[in-house]
Amino acid sequence: MAFRYRLYPTPAQAGVLGRHCADARFVWNLALEQANAWRPGRVRSPGSAERFRQLADARRGSWLGEGSSSVQQQALRDFDQALRNWWAGTHRRPRWRRKGIDEGFCIRDVSVRRLSRKWAEVHVPKVGWVRFRQTRPLGAHGMGRVTQDRAGRWHVAFAAPQPALPRFATGAVVGVDLGVAHTITTSDGHQERIPGLRPSEERRLVRLQRKLARQQKGSNRRARTKHAAAALCARATDRRRDWAEKTSTRLVTDYDLVVFENLRVKDMCRSARGTIDNPGRNVAAKTALNRRISAAGWSTLVRRTRQKAEASAGCEVVLIDPTHTSQECSACGHTAAENRPNQAVFSCVGCGHAAHADINAAINIRARGLRVPARGGRPEVRAPSEARTTDVEAA
Ligand SMILES: [Zn+2]
Repeated sequence: MAFRYRLYPTPAQAGVLGRHCADARFVWNLALEQANAWRPGRVRSPGSAERFRQLADARRGSWLGEGSSSVQQQALRDFDQALRNWWAGTHRRPRWRRKGIDEGFCIRDVSVRRLSRKWAEVHVPKVGWVRFRQTRPLGAHGMGRVTQDRAGRWHVAFAAPQPALPRFATGAVVGVDLGVAHTITTSDGHQERIPGLRPSEERRLVRLQRKLARQQKGSNRRARTKHAAAALCARATDRRRDWAEKTSTRLVTDYDLVVFENLRVKDMCRSARGTIDNPGRNVAAKTALNRRISAAGWSTLVRRTRQKAEASAGCEVVLIDPTHTSQECSACGHTAAENRPNQAVFSCVGCGHAAHADINAAINIRARGLRVPARGGRPEVRAPSEARTTDVEAA
């Protein structure tokens, strides 16, 4: 959980911030390259302490030495944490940091001072005080992360504990099916799609991208077009983030138990499911894109719902194994591939029960969540791989 504020550096400050981003990216990618080069049986890859020594060596007499050592060291610490998260199974393997896309760096022990009701400043090494817009009260801030998005906007985020949501016990239980056509379908029959760009905005983006392809590399006009396209994409990202925040808050306040599918297991079923809606080539590309957008939305939604539930008394989030939830009849339990004549329809060959396919799945997800043994009390934080799964036979 982090509070994010828009940062307003002066042009000169922005230059140094950009330099910090480049250094952090360089150090991160170098550490990743070393980690990737390691194979079992070879000389061991450098550990954390070794990496810090190498960084100190590299800084002597090279351009790296002109940058901020604390920013560069923090990038190594971040990388170590990312490796540990990967080994623990809670996160994916660390990825390459790409220029213009993953721009950011961390500051340890940040100092912040208030200027007025609306403005405050954060201290950045080698930059000094940088103003930011204080859109929400400032809490404690041990670690700060400065980022630049594709539209060129700067932000600073401070880690903060998730505040408890005001809620009353409802006794209600919901199962949530995660899909592409509908991002979520609840067992109550409620369906929602993650927002993105409006049709007119999407047309504009396509026009900008075509223009970009024609324009000369390195020209000012091209830079303007690129910026306009990035601003549109940033708008879509903002809307998706907003959707995940609002939806997770609603789930935690409305239900005492929220049941999701375990995304790791769901991912494994992907290829089998994807075949139904992959008829043509163009359609396939579009579907793949929608699929990626949806998958990002799902994981943010599940993560934020878990964090909010953990902080708020009386709400619990459970992850279940989604195997066969889409083929099982929610009325009689008969499980068969023939129950799904197409993507949208569920029609049981056993008892004749017919329903919307996603709603049928969501009802099964809800039922599996209720059968999870040893519920009650506060949810435990576990890696997704170890998350409780239902044992239908035992129930
Ligand atoms: Zn049935």
